[in-house]
Amino acid sequence: MMELSYQSMKIAHQAREADEQRTEMRKKSLLILIYHHLLGQGYVAAAVALDQETNGGVRRFEVSDNIDLEMVLMEYESYHYIKFQKYPKLIRRIAETGERRRSTAKRSPCSAGKPLPKINPSQNPHSRNGAKKAATSDNDGSLAPESSEFGLSISSIKNGPAGESATNRKGQMTDVKGTIQDVVRGAGINSDHMERLLKPLSGFSGMSGEMRELAAIISRDIYLHSPNVRWEDIIGLEDAKRLVKEAVVYPIKYPQLFTGILSPWKGLLLYGPPGTGKTLLAKAVATECKTTFFNISASSIVSKWRGDSEKLVRVLFELARYHAPSTIFLDELESVMGQRGSSMGGEHEGSRRMKTELLVQMDGLARSDDLVFVLAASNLPWELDHAMLRRLEKRILVSLPSSPARQAMISHWLPPLSCTGGVELRTALDYETLAKEMEGYSGSDIRLVCKEAAMRPVRKIFDALESHQDDDTEMPPIQLETVTTADFLDVTKHTKPSARNLMDRYTAWEREYKSV
Ligand code: ADP
Repeated sequence: MMELSYQSMKIAHQAREADEQRTEMRKKSLLILIYHHLLGQGYVAAAVALDQETNGGVRRFEVSDNIDLEMVLMEYESYHYIKFQKYPKLIRRIAETGERRRSTAKRSPCSAGKPLPKINPSQNPHSRNGAKKAATSDNDGSLAPESSEFGLSISSIKNGPAGESATNRKGQMTDVKGTIQDVVRGAGINSDHMERLLKPLSGFSGMSGEMRELAAIISRDIYLHSPNVRWEDIIGLEDAKRLVKEAVVYPIKYPQLFTGILSPWKGLLLYGPPGTGKTLLAKAVATECKTTFFNISASSIVSKWRGDSEKLVRVLFELARYHAPSTIFLDELESVMGQRGSSMGGEHEGSRRMKTELLVQMDGLARSDDLVFVLAASNLPWELDHAMLRRLEKRILVSLPSSPARQAMISHWLPPLSCTGGVELRTALDYETLAKEMEGYSGSDIRLVCKEAAMRPVRKIFDALESHQDDDTEMPPIQLETVTTADFLDVTKHTKPSARNLMDRYTAWEREYKSV
């Protein structure tokens, strides 16, 4: 008996020790990351002070590529939550308002803070107003920017819906991690390769435990940190690209120009046949503009969070404001925003409440200066609820690819020479003829056909590979047959375009509902 309790005490002691060690490690990594960030940002004096305070403990280590400050902070938060059932609050007292101002002047969200190079604020009365408007919308007069050249950068320090935790009254507590995050983000705007890092959820104040949990779910499942789709990755769709840039990207890049009558759209609908690049366009917005991207598949909101979907929508918009500038991408909109009451047997009460919440949130956006855009996509726009349609003021048809776009797609996916798993794949294709033959095919149909055409010669060598395993002779070098125009056309016979017949319906709908 004694023996047993001694053993269990020993195990408990060891577990406690391991736990403490892990805590220590976490603290150390955090300090190291902060140290390197400070150095990277040119805050040498602060970095040296940190180094001295830790007796040179931080200088001896390098930060590995796959760890960043944000990850460590989030991990620490979850750990703390599991251990103490509450989130940690790392705070410091602000001694003087000027300090905060200096740090905000260094950073700006997305390209929002980029000064317009050619427009002098004094020649452009809107720019000063624009900046002021953004500052005062924070409900805190102390946040007036030092200069309008920073444009809407001020909106990035809004911390939470009420702007509570990072407001700047003298002596008020502020979220240190938020400050670090701001510094980190400042680096992000200068580097194309660096993702825009997210603020820790601890700054997401005013939330009940349940809401916090939903926020964590959204953060885990719904953020796409960097979708990594560039404009040039989208083939064709020149008109749609131009309209999307005009509606969403330029207002973020050049906020000075988008005030008054030109105030940016808050809701934009991309509609058209499936597989034409609507999702790609939304991802390009997020990548090129470095906004926080919330990728919501509407049907998953309904199915996964049936009971909670209304709350989920609320938290989603709050999070988007918290991480502004943000893009909320609602895919398959018709599956949540179908015409109300139209489904057989009436509507599910939860789904009706969620629709209402979505409308309320969209109205909230329209009235605010928050840099949050709703980008919705639908393959069946005629099924959409009219109240929702009204809020998606800008509507853009993303149609089937034109003949030159089809040609560009085929030559992109099947160039004359490519490499697949170290084996050369050659094609001899009459791209122009193929493009003509493929009228009515969507981008994703074309990709499928290209894939199938490339698969044919590969399929032929499988037999050789499989039979070779049975004998002991040396494997001959693998040579794939060239893919010819005839092969390609043969594939198209078996793969029919998915949306050709629907095209008339889209253009008819466009005539009726086209926004300007
Ligand atoms: P949807 O319009 O249904 O949102 P997606 O944007 O998801 O379609 O496109 C599906 C896939 O089809 C993409 O991942 C891409 O491989 C291909 N695709 C479709 N349109 C294009 C395009 N214009 N340029 C490049 N690829 C495209």
